[in-house]
Amino acid sequence: MEMNHTQEHVKNKHVLINKSIGCTVSECKYHAEHADFCTLDHIEVVKHEGKADSIACTDCGSFEPKKVH
Ligand code: SF4
Repeated sequence: MEMNHTQEHVKNKHVLINKSIGCTVSECKYHAEHADFCTLDHIEVVKHEGKADSIACTDCGSFEPKKVH
């Protein structure tokens, strides 16, 4: 297990959360859901402008949408 990961017991499931990566994007399939953290070991932060000059120019490049049921 990575050092930054915490194992938590939620709804009878073990869930790993990475407390080094805070995230509020609950629509992402990697979001910890019960807490505002990511569950991945590593994410890629990207810019979507040629030159980033504000927070709005950056994104999580590891985002993947949750499957809609
Ligand atoms: S992959 Fe990115 S958007 Fe998804 S939970 Fe992790 S940090 Fe948030």
